[in-house]
Amino acid sequence: MVSRVIPVDPFDLVVFGGTGDLAQRKIIPGLYRRFLAGQIPPESTIIGAARSEMDDAGFQQLSREAIAEFVAKDKQEPEAIDAFVARLGYVAIDAKGEGGWDALKKRMREGVVRAFYLSVAPSLFGDIAERLHQYKITDPDSRIVVEKPFGRDLESARALNKVLAQHFDEAQIYRIDHYLGKETVQNLMAVRFANILFEPLWKSEYVDHVQITVAETVSVEGRGAYYDRAGAMRDMVQNHMMQLLCLIAMEPPYHFDPDAVRDEKLKVIRALDPVEPDDIVRGQYLAGNGQNSYLQDAENPASKTESYIAMKVNISNWRWKGTPFYLRTGKRLRARESEIAITFREPPHSIFDDAEGWRENVLVIRLQPNEGMDLMVMIKEPGPGGMRLAQVPLDMSFAEALGEEGADIPDAYERLIMDVIRGNQTLFMRGDEVEAAWAWTDPIIHGWEQRGEKPKSYDAGSSGPEDALMLMHRDGRRWREIRE
Ligand code: NAP
Repeated sequence: MVSRVIPVDPFDLVVFGGTGDLAQRKIIPGLYRRFLAGQIPPESTIIGAARSEMDDAGFQQLSREAIAEFVAKDKQEPEAIDAFVARLGYVAIDAKGEGGWDALKKRMREGVVRAFYLSVAPSLFGDIAERLHQYKITDPDSRIVVEKPFGRDLESARALNKVLAQHFDEAQIYRIDHYLGKETVQNLMAVRFANILFEPLWKSEYVDHVQITVAETVSVEGRGAYYDRAGAMRDMVQNHMMQLLCLIAMEPPYHFDPDAVRDEKLKVIRALDPVEPDDIVRGQYLAGNGQNSYLQDAENPASKTESYIAMKVNISNWRWKGTPFYLRTGKRLRARESEIAITFREPPHSIFDDAEGWRENVLVIRLQPNEGMDLMVMIKEPGPGGMRLAQVPLDMSFAEALGEEGADIPDAYERLIMDVIRGNQTLFMRGDEVEAAWAWTDPIIHGWEQRGEKPKSYDAGSSGPEDALMLMHRDGRRWREIRE
């Protein structure tokens, strides 16, 4: 397949928090890969900004080390690395102070796209937005990119939206949810809206239920204090899983256009029913295999924060009434696996006697590892023995199906940063979307806080607490296995 990398317009990108973990692990390596792919025009510049005193050469060296560590060896081309780091600069700025802003302004060029990536704590968003405006560093076409977490409840999300809105139009604000940058997540929209095959079946009449799983093997070690204030609900469900649910459940937008897509997602969030306490199971991992328990990692022996959550969510609209969406996510589980499984209903009447061999059709969309799709279909079991049925996957691995181009799928951050430069907000959350998601999440969290609920324990390396199995069993369904 021919590569279709289209260069973006030249830009000046300022990365606040340029020396931090996210910038060094994802943003800088991602920009290098796009540079190598020929998508970044050589006259673009990338400027790191943080409090640490450092000159351009220091930031260039730091970024070389990040590329050496986080870019695959076969992509580390010395000439390209030299050319890329030559585009990097650094300005020492304290977001809360007055130093450095004039120096930053001098670095900005006329006639190129200006983007400001706030890879810093959300408490600094207001200070940075305010000073960018005050020092006249932005222009009406400038873009501001903000990282998660976007608030910890409706009130704080509203406050963040308000602070950004003081100096930026909604069309300039890019709220990152990196899940939306994943190839397969976008493929959800292509699969649904570029094929006639699935859409007629995409409703409660034909879909029995949907499972969305984001399982991780990692613990919260090293970021226990942060995580303990969030928990799986705030860290994963309110944002990433909500976005996945929306893409599965939304109506076809009239066009693949930022507001048309986001309008449809918003309608889904607004149609979510409140979740009953019985429809939620929360868990905390126990110690095992020489590793800490959640309570040890969180350094809070009395913590009631969940490192696992499973829940049944109902959507009250014409399309989905009667089709539950089961969500689960957790740390220290058996395997790292993210997938969406759409389980279809039984055919209305079976002409075959092999009732035992029959299984539901399932469309499995794998987000990681091995991005791709499986469609589980029934066939005749090969060979003699009469008409016995067997279920087989119609397997499509994107890397295999798309050859070299498929093997070189850009990382979510790469794609999203390029979208910022292109001015395409389709894969970014709109302010009202984030607020609606919090408005649904808040009462659930308040409920368990008021009841003083403590999460159930689960074994490290398992698939979560026993009670989560019951959440499905009592509906006559079962979770798909999390495979090692
Ligand atoms: P981090 O490693 O602690 O880096 C924070 C950065 O901000 C550093 O470059 C720091 O440099 C700079 N900084 C801190 N205070 C500053 C100030 N007053 N003025 C200017 N710069 C300041 O954090 P991170 O992990 O990169 O995370 C950054 C943001 O992304 C956070 O909001 C986080 O929640 C979000 N995020 C991170 C990840 C991830 O994988 N790391 C994933 C999703 C979202 P100096 O100390 O030199 O100022």
